Amino acid sequence: MSSIEVRAAAKINIHLGVGPRDSDGFHPIQTIYQAVSLYDSVRLTAVGPTPPADTDSVAVPTGPMLTVSGIEGADAPPDPTNLAWRALELLASHAGRTVDVTLALDKQIPVAAGLAGGSADAAAALTALAAWWRLDISDNELDALAAELGSDVTFARHGGTALGTGRGERLQPYPAGEFHWVLVASHGALSTPAVYAELDRQRETDTSAAVVERAGSPEPALRALAAGDPAALVGLLVNDLEPAAIALAPYLEATLQAGRAAGALDAVVSGSGPTCLFLAGDAAHAAELADTLSATPTARRVLAVHSPVRGAQLVESEL
Ligand code: ATP
Repeated sequence: MSSIEVRAAAKINIHLGVGPRDSDGFHPIQTIYQAVSLYDSVRLTAVGPTPPADTDSVAVPTGPMLTVSGIEGADAPPDPTNLAWRALELLASHAGRTVDVTLALDKQIPVAAGLAGGSADAAAALTALAAWWRLDISDNELDALAAELGSDVTFARHGGTALGTGRGERLQPYPAGEFHWVLVASHGALSTPAVYAELDRQRETDTSAAVVERAGSPEPALRALAAGDPAALVGLLVNDLEPAAIALAPYLEATLQAGRAAGALDAVVSGSGPTCLFLAGDAAHAAELADTLSATPTARRVLAVHSPVRGAQLVESEL
């Protein structure tokens, strides 16, 4: 095999409840994840010429080991700190091997936008390298490696619809019909740790209902998802991080308002933001909403997407 490509989807949080920070500095969460039809892809390619089968020489690295391209490529690190590269190294160390591939990342998912693009890339890289090496590795082992890389990486491997608990890595899959959304990515970026820190600050200084844990039970939203009924989901989009994201990026208020005024059925900040998520009634409504919202001054990219879609998937391999 000389090349393999795996794609992985962005996620949205339909329901995101955040508990108080624990002694390790993490916040337990209860979240409904869905994977949406916006994908990054990673391509692994053999390094150097393949040595003849009758020698024990090793391939010689040529050129950069990691390249990043795509419409969102400028904001993702093209170096070993990239989460996709760290995923390769973690799996290689788990398998007792050395990374012997180059990685080409095509980034379509906005970076630091609350869509878990880095996690998608890490999940794709794990799937790609496991397939490349034809590793005899269980799903549970891959999930454990994914959780080491980040809270959202396990979900990115599986996709679909799931209730995530713990730090988001403990997953329970749920059924769901098809839903249509508009994502509005903003000009700014928000760091996830900064948003959690702002939430802690707000909770220490403000006891109003706006910033306490307000998400409540995810059950009604799970039922609406199973029914495939967007009208039943109205009023159930909730995100405990939203007040903190808005405090750090006040323009989000205007973006959410623009979506509601344009006829979105419901609106919420996606994950740690600053992407905003708008519920549409169907595909035509999503296209119409996206068209209207593309004129919003705070909007950098406006995308109509659907959910749920699958997790990390092999797209192509060349033998
Ligand atoms: P999360 O909530 O999981 O932090 P996010 O969607 O808000 O996700 P990402 O797009 O995953 O944010 O990026 C978070 C940070 O991770 C970025 O600031 C970036 O520098 C770093 N990063 C490392 N690898 C990647 C990658 N492959 N794609 C995007 N960002 C990456």
